[in-house]
Order: sequence, then structure tokens, then C-alpha cells
Amino acid sequence: MSAPVAIAWHRRTPARTPSAPAAAEFARLLDSDWRQGAGAREVLRRILTTVDPEEVEAVRAAAEKTLLDHCGDTVRLRGLIEFSNRCVLDCRYCGIRRGNRAVSRYTLTLDDVVACARWCAGKGYGSLVLQSGERRDAAFVRRVEAMIRAIKAATRSAAQPEGLGITLCVGEQTEETYARWFAAGAHRYLLRIETSSPELFAALHPPEQRHETRLACLKTLRAIGYQIGTGVMIGLPGQTVEHLIDDLLFFRDLDVDMLGMGPYIPHAQAVLPGAIPAAEERLRLGVRMIAAARLLLRDVNIAATTALQAMAEDGREQGLRFGANVIMPQVTPPRVRRMYTLYDGKPCLDESAGQCAECLDARIASVGRRTLRDQWGDSAHFGRR
Ligand code: SAM
Repeated sequence: MSAPVAIAWHRRTPARTPSAPAAAEFARLLDSDWRQGAGAREVLRRILTTVDPEEVEAVRAAAEKTLLDHCGDTVRLRGLIEFSNRCVLDCRYCGIRRGNRAVSRYTLTLDDVVACARWCAGKGYGSLVLQSGERRDAAFVRRVEAMIRAIKAATRSAAQPEGLGITLCVGEQTEETYARWFAAGAHRYLLRIETSSPELFAALHPPEQRHETRLACLKTLRAIGYQIGTGVMIGLPGQTVEHLIDDLLFFRDLDVDMLGMGPYIPHAQAVLPGAIPAAEERLRLGVRMIAAARLLLRDVNIAATTALQAMAEDGREQGLRFGANVIMPQVTPPRVRRMYTLYDGKPCLDESAGQCAECLDARIASVGRRTLRDQWGDSAHFGRR
């Protein structure tokens, strides 16, 4: 990764009152109590669609202020370990779907995973994310449980007496499996709903993959005690702004703790049929969705995802400026990283984790924010619930 580009507008800018009357009126509206009322849809539509630069700045400034007021100015790091690309699912958009025969499959050893975790702990990353393709067989369930226990044992220190925080992102599982992993020490779970529309979900997945199953899994995870995170892809074929507004209201009604959303990016062996917005528009919508979620939900953790960085060199910084407060630096060993290609143009393929870490600190500082070290960095929303 080349050194981050220092662009003046990256720096945190003092909120200023927009000069144009319409933008000033919009800024006042954003500051009012619009979230639960009948007008919420209208406000969200304007946040997502305005092209007036003064209004865009009003949205950005309001999202940043909301973030600072409710979550503080720290960016929380979760080292991302993509420990296997073996997958039993066939999501039509995904490069590692079962049906893609062009992918070489891998699974990291327990030692590999623990080495990545130790590295994260040594760097002061408070948490990590264990992500993989989806499997539900007994050997996989045991392997994940063993990884959680081994990571906890290997990363306890004076700085982090409870070891690294562990977020799982390994898909739909039984209640018993979720409970087993929670008992082993994982405490957050990311399961994207992909879209809140059952019809759109059905167009993206084979019939055996069901929207209601994901929703039921999220509710089970919550009942067990996990902090739950979900999210959607943005700019899918057939997706409209109204779908995105529904997604935001879905997050509010599900009372999520964390969000990870990003632009849909086609993969050469997993191209969905149908037109999609231009890359620039998907990035713009991706960043605007972060701002809308920050303004609507206020105290949840929101990731500036890798997919944003895949679309623009400064994509994650844009996400931070519009209200995100989590980054998931890549710590998967470089020798397998290329095999975990969900979409084309995945960034940081060749850098070592050390290079990614250095690049990241500069990027976070470039938007006037601080990196949180040696703490789990849980969602303030979870703490307040
Ligand atoms: N199997 C687990 C699950 O479904 O939660 C975790 C891995 S899955 C590959 C992680 C996420 O990658 C998915 O939820 C999806 O939103 C995202 N993803 C997959 N293909 C993508 C694409 N072409 N563009 C953008 N995001 C994609």
C-alpha cells in the first residue's frame, strides 16, 4: 500500500452552518427529533439523495457531531482473519460461493490463526474478527470453538486481561452452535441480512437460502447475549433508494449494536444479472448510508468497510468522515489472501499486516481521529441497552 494521500478536506472540520437557506433549514431538521416520527422516511431519502454540496456537508457535519457526542472520537480496530474460503452456500454475488470452481480452497491451521491473533494483541488491536465461508459440520463447529479458546488463552496480558475481543462472522448456525461459541468466549456476531427486502434477497440467493432464517439467527444471537451486527450491500441490481431506506428502518427496529455495510462490487465469476449504478454512485451511496445510519441510530458501531476502500483509495477515510468508527485491518496471511476474493479489486492483497497497520494509523490521523488501543471497543449502544 502506498502512503495515504493527505488531502486537506480529510481533516475534521468544525461544523459550520450552511449558508444557503435550504441547506441551513436541512441542518436544523437533522438536529431535531425526526427519528421515530412519520417524517423519518422523508429525511432519510433526502440524506441519501441530495446532490447539493451544502446539504451534503450538512449531512456529513451532523453525522460527525452525532458520532463524537455519542461514541467519542476513537476508531476501533478489529484485525480481520479470513480463516477459510470453503463455503457450502451459493450466494450469487460472492466470489467464494460453492459453485465457483475457479477458486483454490484453503483453511488456516489453528497455529496460523493464533499467530495472527498474537500479532493483533501485540499491536494493541483490541479485537479481531474471525470470518470464513459458511460450513455447519461438526468438525467446523469444533474448529471455531478451539480457535476462540486458543485466541483467548494466547492474548491475555496486563494490557488486555480478558484477551482480545472476538467477533464472529461465520454465517447461519444452530442455536446450540451459537451458544457453544459464546460460552467459549466470542461476544459479537456479524450476520448481514444483505437486504431487508425478502424479494430482493430471493433474487440474490438460491431458494434454500432464506431471508427469514437470517432474521431468526439474528434474534437467536441477541437472545444468547451476543452484540449483534448486520448490514446490507449497496447498489445491487434491482435495489432502489426506497429499499435502502427500508434497510435503515430495519436496523432501527431490530435495535442492532453494529453495522457493516458496503457497496456491491461484481466478481468476474459471480456477476449478478441486471444493471447496477456506476462505481462512483455506489461509493457515494455507501458513504451516505453510513451517515444516515449514524444519524438514525446514533450510538452503534459502524464499520468503514474494505469494500469502500476497494472503490476509492480514500474510501475508508470517507466512511470515517461520514460517521463510521470501526476499521477492520487485514491480518490474514498474505499467502492465502488472494483466495478470499469476494469481489474484484480487493485492496491490501500483497501488504503484510505490519504495512497495513502503519498505513492505517496515518489514515485515521488524517481525518483527525484517534486509534483506540488495547480495548475491545464495544458498541456504546450495547452498553446502554
Ligand atoms: N459466510 C459468512 C456470512 O455470510 O455472514 C461470512 C462471509 S461473507 C463472504 C461476508 C459478506 O461479504 C457477505 O455478508 C456479503 O455482504 C459480502 N460480499 C460477498 N460478495 C460481495 C460482493 N460481490 N460485493 C460486496 N460485498 C460482498
